[in-house]
Amino acid sequence: MKTYKQSIRRPHAYQNLALWACVICMLSAAGCRRRPVETTPGIDSPRQTWVRVLLFGNLRMCTVASMSGFEIEDVGSGAMANFRSDEPFVVQVSGRTLVIGEHRFDGEVLIRPHEPFVFRINDKPYRGHLRLRADEDGQVFEAVNLVPLESYLFGVIGAEMPSYWEPEALKAQAVASRTYCLFIKDRFGQRRSWDLTQSESSQVYRGLEAETQTVRAAVLATAGEVLVAPADDGRDLIIATYYSSSCGGHTEAAENVFGGERVAPLGGVRCRDCAGVARHSHYYWKPVTMTMQQISEKLMRRYPALEKLERISNFKVSKLGYKGRVVRVKLIGKNAATDTVRGEDFRLTLDPTGRKIKSAIFTVEKNGNKVSFQNGLGFGHGAGLCQCGAQGMARQGKTYKDILSYYFPGSKRVTITPAKTTTEL
Ligand SMILES: [Zn+2]
Repeated sequence: MKTYKQSIRRPHAYQNLALWACVICMLSAAGCRRRPVETTPGIDSPRQTWVRVLLFGNLRMCTVASMSGFEIEDVGSGAMANFRSDEPFVVQVSGRTLVIGEHRFDGEVLIRPHEPFVFRINDKPYRGHLRLRADEDGQVFEAVNLVPLESYLFGVIGAEMPSYWEPEALKAQAVASRTYCLFIKDRFGQRRSWDLTQSESSQVYRGLEAETQTVRAAVLATAGEVLVAPADDGRDLIIATYYSSSCGGHTEAAENVFGGERVAPLGGVRCRDCAGVARHSHYYWKPVTMTMQQISEKLMRRYPALEKLERISNFKVSKLGYKGRVVRVKLIGKNAATDTVRGEDFRLTLDPTGRKIKSAIFTVEKNGNKVSFQNGLGFGHGAGLCQCGAQGMARQGKTYKDILSYYFPGSKRVTITPAKTTTEL
């Protein structure tokens, strides 16, 4: 029988070790019981905070399995079907009907695995429930993972921070990720059938594959804790706890990076610790060169409104933030018309991976048609929590509470009751 443990991806260096460990166990006279997957905490709690994560948006086919078996509810009719096999079932859509194995369902189903409440979709394991819903045309369907908040974080922390980092850094990340999740859920979730994606566009979620004991411990030790700050009318609101890899020496005011109004705990602080933690090539990144024509094409494609400039013939950095972070760029058109973009948007338009122009801290050198981005510093957008800085502080014996109050000064740490999911507490 297949187990989830067998197919969890391991680093290459450990694969042979793992194989030998299995062989030794099988040969052992005492035998070797496989470690079961730990159960999903709080899934039966009536006051649970559920998070809806879009796993796939335009599926034509997928496979679904659960080693513990599962039941399927037809959401429209309430009819139930039980699946006891641990073999994967093929799911297809046919004119608003979802076909799962031999069964047919009316457009939307809820798949609920039995304890430990883990299912696999396309051979990747996740905790919680799975909702499949066909689109209006019956051509494709979406797969959304409904997962309790703390179990969701089990799949986030190890994907966003190395799971071998200091426990206090992992706890700071857990509080930041929990707060950020609720902020996004509340701001955007009511307008769509899911709260977050599983990619960087929300925060990276890799389900059971990203779980480790250290990650689970950090999440459970801070269960329910979020950061809030008083709004103008005195009410405590959940803040947007942005975080990025290394800030380059000073975190940036969030409104300079993402726009919006100034929020005091996101104003930016000096950071002495990330330089000593970040990988040298990530912190002091190599110059990146491109032609003015490439820059113009990328920006025009990304922002159709720039058409009024005909073609971008030049640009100037028009506002700098901390450590020389480019906050605003003035674009100059062939016809002398101008427009502006935020520095972070400029960088990610020229390098959507964000892995070459690693931050908006750079100087610009122009030589004929060539433009070079030099003296790069730091990795990521630089707002909110500096993850390498958090690791540096944790190494010095600081607690996650110290770390969070340093990077989000003036914020307050509160424990939410599960039912409270709105930003107004
Ligand atoms: Zn930093």
